[in-house]
Amino acid sequence: MRGKPQFMITYDCSSCGQDFAVTEFQKPVCFYCQAQVGFTIAKKEKLTPVVMAARLKLVTDRMMENLQKAYAVRPEEVDEQELLSAMKKAKDLKDQINNLSLNDSKSNSRE
Ligand SMILES: [Zn+2]
Repeated sequence: MRGKPQFMITYDCSSCGQDFAVTEFQKPVCFYCQAQVGFTIAKKEKLTPVVMAARLKLVTDRMMENLQKAYAVRPEEVDEQELLSAMKKAKDLKDQINNLSLNDSKSNSRE
């Protein structure tokens, strides 16, 4: 039987040094360097809205950081407006995720 995933597993990637998280149903592939082997399990957590929101927050924080870095070192041929609009979208997503986790802590009593 295969229901909903129960766990979120965080892996450390030995190829690029980043960490990434997938559920126990997903084959681990590094989000950053696309490596498919060479991981160590950093942690395995019960998949709860709180755990998920924390992970989303971490990932969007990193995304913002990376976009800001990319903006700072952008080559001439990269469209500045495109990068700025990507940053705006990332920021909106980050805000939505922040609101999401607030809602979860209030109304999480069913199930
Ligand atoms: Zn990697």
